Amino acid sequence: METRDILRTLREGRGLTQDALAERVMVTRQAVSRWETGETQPNTETLKLLSREFDVSINALLGAPRQLFCQCCGMPLTEDGTISREPDGAFNENYCEWCYADGEFAYQSLDALLDYIAPHMARQLGAAPEALRPQIEARLMELEYWKEKADR
Ligand SMILES: [Zn+2]
Repeated sequence: METRDILRTLREGRGLTQDALAERVMVTRQAVSRWETGETQPNTETLKLLSREFDVSINALLGAPRQLFCQCCGMPLTEDGTISREPDGAFNENYCEWCYADGEFAYQSLDALLDYIAPHMARQLGAAPEALRPQIEARLMELEYWKEKADR
């Protein structure tokens, strides 16, 4: 679905008029109307408000143009239910709900994460954890969370 259809479906699903939605996200009714005809798209700040209003991730509001991956453990974030949230309830689309919760990261070191992931993946693949570890580590090092940690 495109953003215009997603927004209309969500608004109607909540039983809101264009006016009512406009008021909640602090825009004019005309702006809502233009989103729903596909003439314009909400700006970044408004997308955040719409995300909060509908409890839907920004990526999903935009028709899921990006394949999101947790930037800590690499897990694909295919559903909003697996995306982490800030303590105030807003989605944090960079992380999964296990790596980041209540404003805190679950893994402070790459070793701690590898201790968890390597045996888990080894079981799934029927391989030895020690053999998998360097490969998993190389992949994790590409993710933002670990890149930033390495830079510090
Ligand atoms: Zn994760």
